[in-house]
Amino acid sequence: MVRSVRKYVIMGVQGSGKGTQAAMLARDFSLTQIGVGEIFRWHVQVHTKIGADVRRIMARGELVGDALVEKVVRERLDQHDWNYGFIIDGFPRNRRQAEFFLESYDIDGVIHLDLPDDEVRRRVLARRLCSQCGMDYNLIAHRPEVEGKCDVCGGELVTREDDTEEALAARVRDYHEKTDPVLDLFRRKEYVITVDARPDKNTVQRAIRKQLGLQPEAGTQ
Ligand code: AMP
Repeated sequence: MVRSVRKYVIMGVQGSGKGTQAAMLARDFSLTQIGVGEIFRWHVQVHTKIGADVRRIMARGELVGDALVEKVVRERLDQHDWNYGFIIDGFPRNRRQAEFFLESYDIDGVIHLDLPDDEVRRRVLARRLCSQCGMDYNLIAHRPEVEGKCDVCGGELVTREDDTEEALAARVRDYHEKTDPVLDLFRRKEYVITVDARPDKNTVQRAIRKQLGLQPEAGTQ
């Protein structure tokens, strides 16, 4: 069977479930999941030069400079480990990044997860992350079996350095100021599907697949 290459962007305010939804799509459609924030967190964790440059910016909830973001994204996509396509989250975050992206890659769809700001705060402040394998937890919707420990690897669960009230406020403000215009740009090109991100993760996933017209391929269910 010939499979098409699918290239998706997933967008949504902090805590809207981008990483979770992207992982579910990646699993069933053999897509490579690329999380730009995750790439930067990895650099911070293993103390690379890039990590040293971005650590404080990230902790304050501010955006990393466009040139560095573009370099990281280009290098990641240049690995070409995405035979069946990719789904990228956390990028593009502003108009310049969107223009860079559209010049270099054609996109098949932009998934916009829509979540009201009051729900963002409730979700993000309950978020925990495994310090070893990076698995995401949420003390409201996805509690670990043993408190403070990762179900997958037993690693210690920690709060992201930028999941504080102050950093969250900066990130949500940036999202509306800089990322909302990106959605408008993509909308003009008719790529965007908007999905209500408030229901549970399986309901949200079904809505995404329905709107994109995606059916799991034989043998992947
Ligand atoms: P995220 O995991 O998507 O919330 O990203 C965490 C942090 O990484 C952000 O608050 C930024 O500091 C940085 N970051 C991730 N993606 C981008 C991007 N496209 N442009 C600028 N900064 C980014």
